[in-house]
Amino acid sequence: MIVACYSTQPHDRRSLEAAATGSPIEWRWLDVRLDAHSTPLAAGAAAVCCFVNDRLDAAALGRLADLGVKLVALRCAGFNQVDLVAAGRLGLPVVRVPEYSPHAVAEHTVGLMLTLVRRLHKAYARVRDGNFSLEGLLGFDLHGKTAGIVGTGRIGARVAEILLGFGCRVIAHDPGADPRLAARGVTYLPLDHVIAGADILTLHCPLTRSTHHLVDARRIAATKRGVLLVNTSRGGLVDTRAVIAALKTGQIGLLGLDVYEEEAGLFFLDHSDEIIGDDIFMRLPTFPNVVVTAHQAFFTQEALAAIAEQTVRNLVHLGRGEALEALVGA
Ligand code: NAD
Repeated sequence: MIVACYSTQPHDRRSLEAAATGSPIEWRWLDVRLDAHSTPLAAGAAAVCCFVNDRLDAAALGRLADLGVKLVALRCAGFNQVDLVAAGRLGLPVVRVPEYSPHAVAEHTVGLMLTLVRRLHKAYARVRDGNFSLEGLLGFDLHGKTAGIVGTGRIGARVAEILLGFGCRVIAHDPGADPRLAARGVTYLPLDHVIAGADILTLHCPLTRSTHHLVDARRIAATKRGVLLVNTSRGGLVDTRAVIAALKTGQIGLLGLDVYEEEAGLFFLDHSDEIIGDDIFMRLPTFPNVVVTAHQAFFTQEALAAIAEQTVRNLVHLGRGEALEALVGA
C-alpha cells in the first residue's frame, strides 16, 4: 500500500519508518506541501499523509479523489487545514491523531511564559556576550497571578494543572467546562471575563470559523494593560496586525507565539539565507518582549513516537479494510 507522505521532514521519516516496520506500508516521501498543484505526486497512492500546513481545500481533495486516493491521514491533532464539507461530499475519510502528548504542548506553553516573564531569551544572549548586568531583566512571580485559559481540552487542561502548581489563580473559558478542573479550583467564566481578568492569557481552543481572530483589536483593548499573551494553538486565532499595534502601545506587555496565521511556507524550513517577504511576521522579532518559536510545541520524542504509531495504525486499518479509528467529524 503506497502512502504519499507530504511535507516530510527527516524526523517524520525516521519516526514513521520505525513505526511502520513489518507493515505493508510503502512510503513515498515528499518534501513539498500538499495543495491542489502537488496532488499529482499522489498518483497510485492509497492514502496521503499530511501535516499542519498542507492545504486540503476542495480543489486538492477533488483531485486526490479523482486519483483514487482512499484516505487522508493527518499526522497531527488539528484539522482546520481540511475542508471537511468537501471531504464528506467526496466520500474521502479523514483521520488524525487526536491525542499524542498534550504534555509536550502544555510544557512548551509554560516554557514560553517563563522565558518571557524572566527574560531568559535576553539573559542567554547577554551571558554569552560577557554582559552580566541585570538591568532590564526584572521579571515577576507567576505565583499569585491570574492565568486565563481559552479552551480546556487535552492541552489547556494540562496547562491549567501546571499553572495551578505554580500558585496561579486559573480562570478559563470553554463551552464544555471540565468538572475535574473546576473541582481543582479552575473558575469557568464567559470569554470576555477571562480576557478582562487575566494577567496571563493562553489560547488552547481549535481554529474554526467562529474562533478565527478570537483575539482581535477589540478584545486586546479589553485585556489588562501589559498582559502576557501566549498562543501555541493555531495562528489564525490571533489578529497579528492588532497584536503588533498593541505591542507598540504596551497594551500587550509580553508575547509568546508558537504559531502564526501565515506560517505555511515559512515554518519548518530554513530561510536563513533568504530575504523573508512577510513584513508583518518580521516585525515580531524586533520587539524585545516577544518570543516566537516555529511550531515546535509538539516536538518531543514522546509526541513524535505517538504520532507515528497512531498514523501507522490508521493506515493499516485502511489496508486491512477495517473500521477507521480517529475519524475527523465522526
Ligand atoms: P481538544 O479538542 O482536546 O481541546 C480543545 C478545547 O477547546 C475543547 O475543550 C473545546 O470545547 C474547546 N473550545 C472549542 N471552541 C472553543 C471556544 N470558542 N472557546 C473556548 N474553548 C473552545 O484539543 P487539544 O488537543 O487540547 O488541542 C488544542 C489545540 O492545540 C488544537 O486545536 C491544535 O490546533 C493545537 N495544537 C498545537 C500544537 C503545536 O505544536 N503548537 C500541537 C497540537 C495541538
